[in-house]
Amino acid sequence: MLKVDLHCHSNVSDGVLAPGAVAAYARKGGVDAWALTDHDEVGGIKLARAAAGEQGMRFVPGVEISVTWANQTIHVVGLQIDEDNPDLLAGLVKTRSGRDARGREIAAQLEEAGIPDAWEGALKFVGNPDLLSRTHFARYLVECGKCATTTEVFKRFLTEGKPGYVPHRWASLPEAMGWIRSAGGIPVIAHPGRYKFTQTGEDALFDEFRQLGGNAIEVVTGSHTPDQYATYAEVARRYGFLASRGTDFHAPGEARVEFDALPPLPSSVTPVWHDWF
Ligand code: AMP
Ligand code: MN
Ligand code: MN
Ligand code: MN
Repeated sequence: MLKVDLHCHSNVSDGVLAPGAVAAYARKGGVDAWALTDHDEVGGIKLARAAAGEQGMRFVPGVEISVTWANQTIHVVGLQIDEDNPDLLAGLVKTRSGRDARGREIAAQLEEAGIPDAWEGALKFVGNPDLLSRTHFARYLVECGKCATTTEVFKRFLTEGKPGYVPHRWASLPEAMGWIRSAGGIPVIAHPGRYKFTQTGEDALFDEFRQLGGNAIEVVTGSHTPDQYATYAEVARRYGFLASRGTDFHAPGEARVEFDALPPLPSSVTPVWHDWF
């Protein structure tokens, strides 16, 4: 069976490996078909495509767009996008543009909590203030010895109610889906099990997504527990959604599930790639 991984990050967003190194690492983990899906940025796609070719992997160009829906942040992955599409590129620029100011506010809060120089420290990991992510702040807090792991960082900092949490308004769901569609891509709700919706709220998200023409969700992802694989396979069946699979890889050793350990999709669902390979 073809091993397909359609959710990964490189150092173009908040991963640590360059796109070519992610391709090599995925291949070593047995991946046959691979997508790079950096947050709000497609600048790694061309390198990734070339590297996937060298590794003998099929390649799917992707992106993971930050969206605000019902006052919560959700992520929508776009697969099979044309990374040169002007609508998509303009939408991503707009989405990223708030990251610089948010990063400065995060740093100001951390400074008040006794952690100086976090903006510079976080920026070292990505270079571009418009791509500054909480992950980069988390890496800095580990580097400067404030926390032992990034998991500890997200328990003590950067999340709601903790120092360094700055609420932010990202793209709307119709906008993000529109940009993905303009670029010829397929929108996929990323890791639905990670959001803190009530059952009614979650159903409302899937209903609106479907009304907007959406028909795929992630089922098996490094961001789900094994119980959630079953839960969202059932959701996919109930809504008639196609199912996606991916590690959500960011860095070697940092992944909840490595490339070779992520289980296949349950046989009850239809893979989003059913007519691609
Ligand atoms: P941002 O888009 O800047 O708000 O950052 C979101 C990123 O932070 C996600 O894509 C994850 O990579 C990371 N992240 C968020 N929550 C956690 C967590 N609890 N543990 C580890 N990483 C997290
Ligand atoms: Mn991330
Ligand atoms: Mn995500
Ligand atoms: Mn991701």
